[in-house]
Amino acid sequence: MSDLSMEPVVVIHGGAWAIPDKLSSASVEGVCSAARAGYDVLIRGGSAMDAVEAAVRVMEDCPAFDAGTGSVLNTKGEVEMDSVIMDGRELQCGSVACVQNIKNPVSLARAVLEKTDHTLLVGKGANEFAEEIGIHTVPTDSLVTEDAREEWRHFMQFKTTVNVLFRNREATPSTSAVCDTLGHDTVGAVALDRSGTTAAATSTGGITAKRPGRVGDSPIVGAGAYADNESGAVSTTGHGESITKVCLARQVTHLMESGMSAQKASEVALQKMADRVKGHGGVVTVSKDGDIGKHFTTERMAWAWIKAGKLHYGLNSGEDFIAAE
Ligand code: ASP
Repeated sequence: MSDLSMEPVVVIHGGAWAIPDKLSSASVEGVCSAARAGYDVLIRGGSAMDAVEAAVRVMEDCPAFDAGTGSVLNTKGEVEMDSVIMDGRELQCGSVACVQNIKNPVSLARAVLEKTDHTLLVGKGANEFAEEIGIHTVPTDSLVTEDAREEWRHFMQFKTTVNVLFRNREATPSTSAVCDTLGHDTVGAVALDRSGTTAAATSTGGITAKRPGRVGDSPIVGAGAYADNESGAVSTTGHGESITKVCLARQVTHLMESGMSAQKASEVALQKMADRVKGHGGVVTVSKDGDIGKHFTTERMAWAWIKAGKLHYGLNSGEDFIAAE
């Protein structure tokens, strides 16, 4: 389909986890702003790639999210960020992992796609590439919020397992105190543009007090995101090690290829992750026909989507608020 006849769609997530009340309104406002930024690109005839990049940049620049500014800290108290972007036309993708001092890792991931013969650059090599193409480093302090430092201090003091962040809705209340202090808001976007092209992007600072050098699911194609014009686009969030084991994003597109709706495929893939590896998380999905899916098995996930000028958004299970744009 390339006759510009598709109804454009953008779907956003702001991380699936036990989002504490103090972060809930900032998370919801952030995903709504990102959805507007992405949709604005699409209704002006822009590409799905431009839309997901614009949407993710909005959230990378918002300190409420664990991506770009606001990223969480590893055990050494440093920021290491991961990001991926994928174009559904010819399965072109670019990612970066363990990059430091970069304001918008999603744009660096896109540069890997557009300006190199590779799909993934990590660490020092990714940073050197950034300098080479004029994406200059920013001071670490400009990316680190007081909340991120506080979470890090708390984590280092209590050595809490990261798994409590991704507990399911039925988990015991004893973990609440920890979740009230630990931040975790990976971001992602999927879009379908007027020409019928899909794209997906995900960006994260990872998980609080991860080992230096730890790479989660987010920059891994098929785990953190996937886009294929023959099925649709998916961005994931949640426990990275679990998501990687089941290739969650590709699972969702695979289920859509076999005829499942975007919503059903999102639910089935997350259920499979819970059954097979006891992992929890969330996904946002758009099918090649513009059907929307969003689902999470954690306590909360901030999400928003816009189609036909209507913004839908929510945070808790079962919510679906609507606003005219
Ligand atoms: N999936 C991310 C990671 O494990 C974290 C998240 O989605 O919140 O790095």
